[in-house]
Amino acid sequence: ILLLALAILATSYVRQALRAEATARRELQRNASTDALTELPNRRAFIEALGRSLRRAASDPSRKLGLAIFDIDHFKQINDRFGHPAGDEVIREVGRRAGISLRKRDLVGRIGGEEFAVIFPQADLETACMVCERLRLGIADRPVVYEDTIIPFTVSIGVADYQPGDDIDHLMARADAALYDAKVGGRNQIRRAA
Ligand code: GH3
Ligand code: MG
Ligand code: MG
Repeated sequence: ILLLALAILATSYVRQALRAEATARRELQRNASTDALTELPNRRAFIEALGRSLRRAASDPSRKLGLAIFDIDHFKQINDRFGHPAGDEVIREVGRRAGISLRKRDLVGRIGGEEFAVIFPQADLETACMVCERLRLGIADRPVVYEDTIIPFTVSIGVADYQPGDDIDHLMARADAALYDAKVGGRNQIRRAA
């Protein structure tokens, strides 16, 4: 009976240890792919997801795919005027508002300091731009309030759609070029890739 009790104890101990290890592994994986400030997918995780979307689009000609890159306007000034913690709060709020404006199937990630990107699966350029306009307005219409200070801010957005033969770099470069046009064009606006 003692031996049996010991065996049961040992088994349950091993089970528990295995469970704890699996949990730790999942947590590590989550941390490696999540941005700590916004809790959005980080650049690495976003690029991986974009790769998967591109492979799906490439294998099925009827499948559309949109990509948007957006960047907070004059963010350096926000940091300079209101302080770095306030800037962090603006970045966090951009993530939250993206969550509100985007559709469930769209995936947003933080790909740089004050730069975000969105994958629009099955969306043509028109649809992606429409959703981006909702996002732009959702940000421009309502400032962030941080410790009783009102911080107005805007974003510029570049949108591109998948073209046959595109790889990650090509698609990202076209969205980036469109974002650059939006900046040069006066910011707080959407530009679509040529
Ligand atoms: P533009 O309208 O052309 O985008 O101008 P900008 O000032 O937004 O762009 P710029 O690239 O000159 O400045 C980006 C700034 O973002 C510089 C950097 O210090 C700041 N930044 C990057 N990551 C973070 C962050 O995690 N938190 C805070 N508070 N600031 C950050
Ligand atoms: Mg910026
Ligand atoms: Mg930037």
